[in-house]
Amino acid sequence: ATPAATMVGTSIGANNGVVFKGGDILERVRDVDSVVFDKTGTLTQGEMSLTDVVAIEPTPDGGRLKGAGAPAGPQAPTGDADASAEPPTGDDAPESGVTPAETAVLRLAAAAERNSEHPLGQAIVDGAEAHGIDVPEPTDFENVPGQGVTATVDGARLLVGNRRLLVDAGIDTAPAEDEMRRLESEGKTAMLVGRVPAAAEPGDAPSAVVGVVADADTVKPTAAEAVAALRDRGLDVHLLTGDNGRTARAVAEDVGIAPDNVRAEVLPDHKADVVESLQEGDRNAMMVGDGVNDAPALAAAHVGAALGSGTDVAIEAADVTLMRDAPRDVTKAIRISAGTLSKIK
Ligand code: ADP
Ligand code: MG
Repeated sequence: ATPAATMVGTSIGANNGVVFKGGDILERVRDVDSVVFDKTGTLTQGEMSLTDVVAIEPTPDGGRLKGAGAPAGPQAPTGDADASAEPPTGDDAPESGVTPAETAVLRLAAAAERNSEHPLGQAIVDGAEAHGIDVPEPTDFENVPGQGVTATVDGARLLVGNRRLLVDAGIDTAPAEDEMRRLESEGKTAMLVGRVPAAAEPGDAPSAVVGVVADADTVKPTAAEAVAALRDRGLDVHLLTGDNGRTARAVAEDVGIAPDNVRAEVLPDHKADVVESLQEGDRNAMMVGDGVNDAPALAAAHVGAALGSGTDVAIEAADVTLMRDAPRDVTKAIRISAGTLSKIK
């Protein structure tokens, strides 16, 4: 491309909220044959809100589930003093149908997430506060990228995150599995709340799943239209996420991405590998993402496109910035590239 054509394309882009970092990017975009979308914050709003809290009562036979809508009754699990005995408002049962056991789970989960910058964690904290819960300050907060968080609350070690996080800590997730699946098939992100008792704790409460919390997100208005337009142009469209398969497929179905093109439960370090695998031979992928966890994949892709509201790390790793955060603008970037380069042939 001539410098003039490149300048025209770059400035048309800028006027349309599509910032190309350099003239050569226009040519790279032209060679793309697949588009890989991150899910959370890219295809979806990334504005999570807490939708469900479930208390899992540990029992010798492996646990019993209490649904969020479970009939009222004696809810305090026996032998698990800490997780159940201290609803923050004393005897005041919270309104809106949340039982004391569920309040206890939400309080612990929110405390563990208090210092989290992840939208999933922030939604839990906001949800707890909306329920009038006084969220305690945890100690030893630790973020485990792509898995969840751990922190010490009331002397016990809390884990909030996916199955891998708890399994790696030696906690059996089976008692929560039915609830996890139910919530995931609704497209929600369900998270386990695990608790490792303090060494000095009386009794011998085991490390266990004490609850499940779920956040829901909404698909962006232009996501389905963007996927359809890309597929019309002959591009292969994929969804790549750290979230679990059931949730990811529910979102993929909403936006028109084929189930075979869903790659779920991908750890941040492996997102780039998935992109590389789509670039075997002389294939070229465009990765579209917003998070720190997308940065390696954005860098590995023939073209990385970051959302303007994305993290600085993502924007730095990318070649294009989509200032309006709209999935539809991926098509715009491709059209601008094709239009500009064809004119100068
Ligand atoms: P995505 O690829 O959708 O942006 P991440 O890679 O950030 O997701 O996270 C993958 C999964 O790890 C989440 O779906 C969730 O199960 C778990 N997870 C990550 N961060 C947190 C957190 N702060 N609290 C609870 N769970 C988390
Ligand atoms: Mg994301």
